Amino acid sequence: MPIIICERCSAETHEPEKCKSCGKKICRNCVKSMKKLHKLERIAICKDCWGDMAKRSKFKSAR
Ligand SMILES: [Zn+2]
Ligand SMILES: [Zn+2]
Repeated sequence: MPIIICERCSAETHEPEKCKSCGKKICRNCVKSMKKLHKLERIAICKDCWGDMAKRSKFKSAR
């Protein structure tokens, strides 16, 4: 498994998640919330975007 550098905090991670809102590859630490859309698809939002009300509500209403 390649090691990915988190684009938010620069930590190394083997399991990056992609922030749905800003598109950054982020480590588990930077994920504020995750949500399942379908069986195979889940989305994550980073702590930065979570602090932005507009982005947060968009994430919450994503289907
Ligand atoms: Zn991080
Ligand atoms: Zn983000």
